[in-house]
Amino acid sequence: MAIVAVILAGAVAGWAVDLLLSNAYRANPLLGAPSRCPDCRARARGVEFLPLIGGFVRPRCPACSSRLWPRFVLLAAGGAASFAACYLEFDDVAQALLGGVFCLAFLALTATDMEQRLLPDRIVLSGVILAICTAWLLPGMTMTDVLLGGAIAIGLAVGLLILSLPFGSGALGMGDLKVIALMGFLLGPRSLIVAVFIATLSAGLFAAVLLAGRRRRFGDYIAHGPFLALGAIAGLLWGSELWDWYSE
Ligand SMILES: [Zn+2]
Repeated sequence: MAIVAVILAGAVAGWAVDLLLSNAYRANPLLGAPSRCPDCRARARGVEFLPLIGGFVRPRCPACSSRLWPRFVLLAAGGAASFAACYLEFDDVAQALLGGVFCLAFLALTATDMEQRLLPDRIVLSGVILAICTAWLLPGMTMTDVLLGGAIAIGLAVGLLILSLPFGSGALGMGDLKVIALMGFLLGPRSLIVAVFIATLSAGLFAAVLLAGRRRRFGDYIAHGPFLALGAIAGLLWGSELWDWYSE
């Protein structure tokens, strides 16, 4: 029974984030008037409030007619799925809800990176504060893991920044580095390493497929956010298992 409540909570939370996400981009109040369009942020009306259905009925913004990225599927369905996965993995409702909130933050960052190539500070830095305050409550985590993970991640981010300088500003954005810091505080040192490995591997495979298919040229912009999010969610759910499996 608990899992049904957890799935429902994930779906509702994802739907609420979908409606409010456009406010994360600029100076709007975060809980201001809901909108589904990150370009003009026209107020949501009528049918647009409906979870999932609203996005299918109105795939374009009625005000500026720009095509809306299907974040309504990613956030509502992804929220439900990640809350459920956290419950199955952690076997505790409170930990599942906390883990689910972090998964949802990474899904929201995936959406903002795909829509606007932005990883808004509002989401990333709020996530860092929430992680410092609560991540030690997650299974297998201690306060030492939180701080050590954060410190290693910041060191890693600074190192990556220095390495990426010769490739120009497009190679790795400040937003990506802040997301890595968030991953460190949330995951602790071992799961952070697993998560960064998964993110790098998946991004590398994706770039190789695009290059092989001549869809992109070397040096073209590829959003890193979705791969970092994939690594972070996998690290949160299975980081310690993967670490143990590898180090055995
Ligand atoms: Zn619009």
